Amino acid sequence: MAIVAPKARKSLSADALFHLVRHGCATLPDARGENLDIALTDALMSAFAMFSLTAPSLLAFDKERAEGNLPTSDGIERVPCDTPRRAILDPISPQGLRPVFKRVVRQLQRGKALEPMGLLDGHYVLALDGTAYFSSQTMHCASCLQRVHRNGAITYFHPMLGAAMIHPDRRAVIPLMPEPIVRPDGTATNACERNAAQRFVAQLRQDHPHLKFIMTEDSLSANAPHIETLHMYGLHYILGVKEGEHAYRFQQVQAAEHAGRVPAYERHDRAAGLVHRFRFVHGNPPHGWKPQE
Ligand SMILES: [Zn+2]
Repeated sequence: MAIVAPKARKSLSADALFHLVRHGCATLPDARGENLDIALTDALMSAFAMFSLTAPSLLAFDKERAEGNLPTSDGIERVPCDTPRRAILDPISPQGLRPVFKRVVRQLQRGKALEPMGLLDGHYVLALDGTAYFSSQTMHCASCLQRVHRNGAITYFHPMLGAAMIHPDRRAVIPLMPEPIVRPDGTATNACERNAAQRFVAQLRQDHPHLKFIMTEDSLSANAPHIETLHMYGLHYILGVKEGEHAYRFQQVQAAEHAGRVPAYERHDRAAGLVHRFRFVHGNPPHGWKPQE
């Protein structure tokens, strides 16, 4: 985010970001009681530091911690090692961190650092995609999704929908509050991800009612119920489609091409040795999307 923020603005410095995150973490209730060795805020901030310092692994972060190499600018009094950190953080609901994500966006907006991220009439491109952050064949909980292998073994995993505001000409991205994908959302992974996407979009509008977004998503989201949701919340979208899964849509493009309604252009990316080919069709009927998977 420091790349987006003009350097001169104190409210957009790394210190200001750490302060904002720390302040948000301090408001989370600690169910462990009093007289604790390590404060919840310290445990949360050390988890945040692990990502803000882009540690390559938990082990590498713990090594730095043990050697006393972590910077103190985050205001962490005691950095817990891996096992106590997990024990403190595991029962904490991630929902408590939502206001922190929201405040970061507000701060960027107030400091005029959000504007340069705008594209096409002040719209922000928001990339949304599923990713897994936990996987095990032994440890699991009631919310784990399951993948049953041919040999009968089961992999338990926790995916989430990650979202970030992106701009094609900027390296910095602005992450928004992710949405966990959990088992009660349905039995099939795809159904779980769709339900999580519904929750994400509703929450996005609640957190940022006035921001204009263009969502970019993969072909899993190119189905009628999700597109209806995007329309309902006033969101624009660019969705991936696959020829095998969206045959009707491809037929429409082909018919439009035969009728001479498809302008096209090519862009040569010499550095990457690639040719990008674009074709445009306007005014396609909105119906014809897949109802469900
Ligand atoms: Zn689980």
